Formats: sequence, C-alpha cells, structure tokens
Amino acid sequence: MSTDVSHRNPGLLGRWNAIPLWQKILAGLVLGLIVGLVFGPAAAALKPIGSAFIAGIKMLIVPLVFVSLVCGVTSMRDPAKMGRVGVKTIALYLVTTAVAIAIGLALGTVLNMGAGVGMESAKAVAPKAAPSIADMLLALIPTNPIEAMSTGNVLQVIVFAILLGLAINMSGKAGETVRNGFDSLAEVIYKLTAIVIWFAPFGVFALMAWTAGTYGLDLLLPLAMVIVAVYVGCILHAFFIYGGALWAAGLNPFLFFKGIAEAAAVAFTTTSSSGTLPVSMTCARKNLGVSDSVSGFVLPLGATVNMDGTALYQGVCALFVAQVFGVHLSGGDYVTIILTATLASIGTAGVPGAGLIMLSLVLTSVGLPLEGVAIIAGIDRILDMARTTLNVVGDSMVATLVAKSEGELDLGVYNSGRDVVGEIG
Ligand code: ASP
Repeated sequence: MSTDVSHRNPGLLGRWNAIPLWQKILAGLVLGLIVGLVFGPAAAALKPIGSAFIAGIKMLIVPLVFVSLVCGVTSMRDPAKMGRVGVKTIALYLVTTAVAIAIGLALGTVLNMGAGVGMESAKAVAPKAAPSIADMLLALIPTNPIEAMSTGNVLQVIVFAILLGLAINMSGKAGETVRNGFDSLAEVIYKLTAIVIWFAPFGVFALMAWTAGTYGLDLLLPLAMVIVAVYVGCILHAFFIYGGALWAAGLNPFLFFKGIAEAAAVAFTTTSSSGTLPVSMTCARKNLGVSDSVSGFVLPLGATVNMDGTALYQGVCALFVAQVFGVHLSGGDYVTIILTATLASIGTAGVPGAGLIMLSLVLTSVGLPLEGVAIIAGIDRILDMARTTLNVVGDSMVATLVAKSEGELDLGVYNSGRDVVGEIG
C-alpha cells in the first residue's frame, strides 16, 4: 500500500480518505446504533464484519506490544531516564486508578442502585474463579516467551520485551544491529497498523449494530442505575481527573480529548484496550505529538496494567452487589475494595469482559456473594464499553503528561489540534 493513496485515487476512494477518520467512526457508531435498534437481533448478521475488524486488530497486538516496548526501552539508553519515566508512569497509573475506584464507591453509595433489583433479573452465568494474588504475580514470568506470544499472554510479553530492551541497552555496540532491526521493524508494524485502522468505521458500525440489536433498550432498564453510575463515573473521571491533570500541566484538555477521539470510539465499540492499542498509539504520536519513545513505552504497558475504567466499575459493582444482598460494608471493607480493585485492574487483560472475571476477586475479598457476578453479566457488555474507553483515555493521558514532563511532547502538534490518524502514511 502506498503512502499517497488519496492522491492517486481521486475518485470515490480519494473522497472517502479525505473525510477525517473520527467523523467516519462516529457516523459508523450512530448508524450502527440505529440499524441495531431497528432490526433487533437480525442485526447480528452484521457481526462478521465487526469480527473481521477485531481479528485484524488482534493480529497487531502481540507484534505491536512487543516491538514498541522493546523500542521504547532501547530509545531510553540513559538508565536514569528509563527509571524516571518508569517511576512516573507507574505512579500516575496507580494514583489515577485508586481515585477511579474512590469515585466508583462514592457514586455507588450516593445512587444506592441495589434497592429494588432482585435476583430474578440475573442471568444464569456461573462465575469463573479468579486467580489468587500470588498466582497473578508468578504468572508474569514467561517460562517460554514464544508460547507467551503465541497464546497472546500480553503481560508476559511485556515482561519479556522490557527485559530484552534492557539487555540490548546493556550490550552496547554488540547489540547495535538488533536495536536498529527493531527500530526498522517498528516502522513496518506502524504502517501495518495504519492499514488495519483504515477499516475502523466499517468495523465500528457492525459492532454497534450487533450490540444494540442484541441487547435492545428494554433489557437495559432494570439495571439502568448501574449503567448510569458507571457512565457518569467514567465521564467525571475523564473530565475532572484527566482534564484537571492536563490543565495543571499547562495543556488544553479539549485538544487532548479531540486528539484521542478515534481511540475512544474504537475502545467503546471493541471493548478491548489491547485491541485499541494500535489506534491509541497512532493518536498519541500523530495527533498529540507524544514522542515515539514515550508512547512506545507508556501505552503498551498501560493497555495491560492501567485500567481506571475497570477499577471504577469494580467499585460501583461491589457496592451494587452489597446493596442487592443487603450486606453492610465497613470502612475497612472500603479500603480492601480499593486495594483489591487496584490489583485486579492491573491483572485484568485488555480484552472484552475480562473485568467481569476479576470482579469475583474483589467480591471475594470482602465476602460478597459471587452470584453478584452473574447479575452484572447480563449488562456487562454495556459497562465494558464505558470502562474500556476510560481505560484507553487514561493511558493516553499518562503518556501525554509523562512526555510533557520529559520535554518529549511536540507542543506544535498538540496545540494544532490536528487529526491525521486516518491517513495511511
Ligand atoms: N475490556 C476491558 C479493556 O479491555 C477490560 C475489562 O473487561 O474491564 O480494557
């Protein structure tokens, strides 16, 4: 595929390529919603188009995470810089996640959603067991990196990529060829990403039609308050915490939200942070002006470990379950929920529905009945859409702040408010 598709195909394709990607994605989203509501379950016939888009994007996950993290680490030859960026990133991830759960708990308390929702609205889904915390930590070490890649174990791929990157740095001149090879591979993978992103509007349309057609509006009403709490929480967190942090750093928050619009739309419809990574990396680099070195390190890590939306959702759901079952939670229980939900969100894979499984870890930690997971299951997809969007926006916010603090944010690009993600090039 050439870099100037639009110039060489001035016809329909050229005109299509000239429309900003976010507009095409938004149109796909709205049209999909309408088609889904009008045609109901029949709209599921469109699902294969959405699945094809998701398959394309999944194809990118392992190579993109691996190559961009190795390059992210090798681009920071200075161990002091590596340490600084790492500490800032992890600290920002942890703080924003804990705040997100607190917002979830506050909203859950204020809205008192559990009243009036009975077990009869539960779907008969047996909750899967969540792993213990020790198992979660041990599972980070890839005994076989190739297997980690082939099975899509992203956390293990991250650990391997960071160690390999450090080893390349430590090898000095002898590692130079490998370093250059990875840099070149990264460019190729970014190009491949651009090709897949071109199909986003069609995939988003089909996924939205399927979701709206399958769930309809009626089914959502009994659990509407949980949905309201999660959506309101995500919006508050994005605007006040992210917006406030960017504003405090001297950046215009609106330009940030404009710049990551495509990534947010893809997150909303695919409900996968890892799947959205190709789009969020492109948005961060091209629209926000975050350097390759910072985006390559911060975003792949964030797509797997930083999940503010998932954490907020776990706070809301834990309270909801407590209210439904009439369990009184003590102050200590609230602290336990904040701690376990932070860990659970770190351990949650950036794939659809993963947060629901980890919810059982949070419920167990304060002795809440696991049947709660089954109640939430019926509406989880709707909740997943909001929480995944916040997860992805949060990663990009941290990448922007870290880049700004390292002098690696191109303010010319950021302040131009440009939108070039849709261009293949
Ligand atoms: N789907 C979410 C994500 O990919 C994870 C979750 O289920 O909470 O970010």
